[in-house]
Amino acid sequence: MKYLVLFGPPGSGKGTQSENIIKKYGYAHISTGDVLRAEMANQTELGKTAKGYIDAGQLVPDDLIIDMLAKTMDGYTEAKGIIFDGFPRTVAQAKALKEMLGKRGSDVTVMINLQVDNDELVKRLLERGKISGRSDDNLETITKRLETYNTQTAPVIDFYKEDGKLENIQGVGSIDDIFAAISKVIDSKA
Ligand code: AMP
Repeated sequence: MKYLVLFGPPGSGKGTQSENIIKKYGYAHISTGDVLRAEMANQTELGKTAKGYIDAGQLVPDDLIIDMLAKTMDGYTEAKGIIFDGFPRTVAQAKALKEMLGKRGSDVTVMINLQVDNDELVKRLLERGKISGRSDDNLETITKRLETYNTQTAPVIDFYKEDGKLENIQGVGSIDDIFAAISKVIDSKA
């Protein structure tokens, strides 16, 4: 099974490109943000706890996320591949993922890092906010999320670089061109 970490700051196109990967490669998709939004919609204990962090543009604590991810991943033992979208977001999460996959006798296949500059991210997220209905797509929370990304999440890039898994891809340009670059990386790891 292939394990693909689709990485990048908020607004870098992880969700859009996940859809393309699912269509072409038939991989399963785990977005920790989507799982958390479902928990919030169902008003579970986890959802209620997560809401405070999400609306403040902060990360939900590692132990909650790692536990949630492990449970979600248990549902995908037969998939051809799994896309991790929005996870890992801290080095502790990256280490936990390596341990979980190690128990399956496996490891992350590749980490694709979508690179987009800050001004473009703010522009995209504000645009998305007009239609997404997401409580965190407003300027104040966007600014906080990008700050959180830079301080807590960006160090994950070095973790995968040292592990020999990092592939950088420019996340600016046409969606099709970006997907072509992603496909090339996935095909090279087949
Ligand atoms: P996303 O949909 O990936 O942009 O996630 C929305 C929000 O959910 C983030 O701003 C975080 O508050 C929370 N979240 C999603 N994934 C994670 C994660 N792996 N670790 C911590 N918090 C997360």
